[in-house]
Amino acid sequence: MAYKITPQMYEKIKHFARFPQTGVSLRQMVMFGQNPSQGTLLKATQFLADELPIRIAHRVKELDNLPHNLSEMPSIVRVKNWYAQSFEELINFPKPELPQSIRERLFATSNPSNPSTTIMSTATKLGHGYYSHVDDIDWPPEVRYYNEKFTKLIEAIKRRHDPVVTTVGILEYKQHKKSTMIDTDIQSFLDRFYMSRIGIRILIGQHVALNRLPSRPDYVGIICTKTNIAKTVQEAVDNARFICEEYYGLFRAPEIQLYCPEELSFTYVPTHLNHMLFELLKNSLRALVELFGDDVDEYPTIKVIVAEGKEDITIKILDEGGGIPRSNIPLVWTYMYTTAEAQTLDPNFSQSDFKAPMAGFGYGLPLSRLYARYFGGDLKLISMEGFGTDVYLHLNRISNSDEPLH
Ligand code: ADP
Ligand code: MG
Repeated sequence: MAYKITPQMYEKIKHFARFPQTGVSLRQMVMFGQNPSQGTLLKATQFLADELPIRIAHRVKELDNLPHNLSEMPSIVRVKNWYAQSFEELINFPKPELPQSIRERLFATSNPSNPSTTIMSTATKLGHGYYSHVDDIDWPPEVRYYNEKFTKLIEAIKRRHDPVVTTVGILEYKQHKKSTMIDTDIQSFLDRFYMSRIGIRILIGQHVALNRLPSRPDYVGIICTKTNIAKTVQEAVDNARFICEEYYGLFRAPEIQLYCPEELSFTYVPTHLNHMLFELLKNSLRALVELFGDDVDEYPTIKVIVAEGKEDITIKILDEGGGIPRSNIPLVWTYMYTTAEAQTLDPNFSQSDFKAPMAGFGYGLPLSRLYARYFGGDLKLISMEGFGTDVYLHLNRISNSDEPLH
């Protein structure tokens, strides 16, 4: 049965959309997530139980405010219903029935000298407490049970929203067919919408990882405090070359040379870094194969140069794949622009963000830029038409930039 928003639920969503969203930085997540006790996880559960409905309500409001009556489009209505359903599930999730003594301990053990207690959650604003460390005392089984149930719920919500990008993407596609002008309203809507989606998915992913995974060395949830750049680049290189060989039926994909201090590592979400590098490398590989054809013995080598600054680690990818005409540069940052044969967007097909083909969706670059910006980095592209393209992936190594919330 397809879910439909009731008018009452709709009013509730509007009410929640009036609360401000609360940002969490990478650094805060690391500080908070180290060896969490069940009590700490309970606080995180409470934080998310308040914060997620607020963030989701903001998304529904944005979908409602789309220009040109786009909010009436079936694909948008569909996405809106997913958000509304998730909202309803979250606010109907029962609060834990904990004995008074436990509740007191939950608040009493909040340590104000712990820096992570400065993360004032909306929970705090609503009077529920901090998103902070709680000492490991004997938490009753109800606490673990409650944490587990909530984890299951948000995992299912995350899965429900997997196809959001491919479903919303249809919107731009429709616009695009009408004109080749970039609709800046839609572009900035999509930037905001997808950015906030990344944030929601990180919060959920992190929470699920903290509750589920046996903790891996150097990892705090999905965050690795020693993300090795050279190793991550090499993995992305291998994956991208493999996909390239498969797609074009090549014996050997163009070579990729890496210049990077071997030991260089920093705190980051390795799956994000891998994803961005994979997208950028596929673009360079494709440019080379399309320029030189699939039957040459050798291609100019792609170079990946990593520089280590105090503020940023910058990864530069240089290819001699012919570049991009200057007039097309603004287009590459839109979510539909592709010079590859467009992949059909099937809204029934649950496409996760991390399973892109060689090319053809057109959102490799703009989504990678959002991932970069999410943790205070950036992605820049400079092309020399007739020669090649340089892409600069800036990663902020201080990792305490504020979460970008609009
Ligand atoms: P897709 O790869 O699915 O087409 P992207 O967002 O990754 O989507 O790239 C959009 C377009 O930008 C590509 O189709 C291509 O025309 C152009 N492009 C991106 N990177 C390069 C590059 N390194 N060299 C030449 N063209 C590029
Ligand atoms: Mg691409």
